[in-house]
Amino acid sequence: MKSSIQHIDFNVEEIRKDFPILSRKVNGKPLVYLDNAATSQTPQVVIDAIVNYYCNYNANIHRGVHTLSQEATDAYEQARQKIQTHFNAKHSHEIILTSGTTHSINLVAHGFSSFLKKGDEVIVSALEHHSNIVPWQMLCEKTGASLKVIPMNQEGELVITAYDNLLSEKTKLVFVNHISNALGTINPIEEIINKAHKFGAAVLIDGAQACPHLKPDVQALDVDFYVASAHKMCGPTGVGMLYGKEKWLNKLPPYQGGGEMIAEVTFEKTTYADLPHKFEAGTPNISGCIAFGAAVDYMNSIGFDAIATYENELLNYATKKLLDIEGLKIYGNTQNKTSVISFNIDNIHPYDIGTIVDKLGIAVRTGHHCAQPIMDFYKIPGTVRASFSFYNTKKEIDALYQAVKKAKLMLS
Ligand SMILES: *Cc1c(COP(=O)(O)O)cnc(C)c1O
Repeated sequence: MKSSIQHIDFNVEEIRKDFPILSRKVNGKPLVYLDNAATSQTPQVVIDAIVNYYCNYNANIHRGVHTLSQEATDAYEQARQKIQTHFNAKHSHEIILTSGTTHSINLVAHGFSSFLKKGDEVIVSALEHHSNIVPWQMLCEKTGASLKVIPMNQEGELVITAYDNLLSEKTKLVFVNHISNALGTINPIEEIINKAHKFGAAVLIDGAQACPHLKPDVQALDVDFYVASAHKMCGPTGVGMLYGKEKWLNKLPPYQGGGEMIAEVTFEKTTYADLPHKFEAGTPNISGCIAFGAAVDYMNSIGFDAIATYENELLNYATKKLLDIEGLKIYGNTQNKTSVISFNIDNIHPYDIGTIVDKLGIAVRTGHHCAQPIMDFYKIPGTVRASFSFYNTKKEIDALYQAVKKAKLMLS
């Protein structure tokens, strides 16, 4: 992963103290948490933000004149502003708070179903998470538009020349993840966005896997939509965001009807509230959104340059170490990747490896990682995936190495 090297005092042992869970044991061994691509762990400041809300100002937002409601509304809107600043959106109302990446994608897919027609084309990539495939399939089924797929190569990279051939005046939408959750590949999204715009197509980038590692600038990217989940970047589960350019959010119809999203309601006609409330029907996860803001603050306090540099060091260390095990094959070998290692050993089932290393306190992911088409491409049932965060250590990678070696010995 590329990053500008900066000298920041990065002390992983100090950072680990921010995460209460990292000191627990699993099966009598110290927890080694290497499933960060599925969900990250939560620092005390983020937990405190939730506790503080429920202890001191739990109230519904945007409705009450009373003090608690005003405090809750202020904190909720402050969180939106923190997220706006973090992603460098032009306006705070371009940030829609959602229940996560999946919700954000479905919101956009639903909106586009009123624009698309037969003959239109939607392009996705071969590296997508299921949550970035299924909504578009549903959209195409509903509208008669057709779905095209940018293929991938053995290294786990998208084949951009094939993308060039797919693009045409018929292309209305392009959906690609910023970073693949299954392989860690960083996709060339600037190029993908620029090329789509030449044909007037809108682009949605799924940043769920990128936001734990880097700080996207939505204005510099000129992206139309960018989505992410809080729980992959030190925040709570069930909370996320959708960035949309103002012009697009004004154009899209609301996703859900209900309270908060209306300006005026009569039985004849309802007029919708302004952005962002048009897309935030009902009572949101208020404490979760506030904690999302706290998570963004926390990650920025560590610093994304320091995170990238350190995680890259972990990735190189772990790659070298694991490849030392005979028969171990890593999937996704592009130079441009984040700290994810997807691997198999000979014909051993990934599930069996996962089970044995768990006995030794090590949490890794096994299976298809919600990206079955990638597994089909490699003709494998799944992989073992170890994904590293800035709070992991080389000592933990050594423990993984020993555990995987032991698993291999027991299983072959
Ligand atoms: C995790 C993930 C999702 C889904 O996120 P949810 O929080 O479960 O909605 C989508 N895309 C990618 C690339 C992911 O890593």
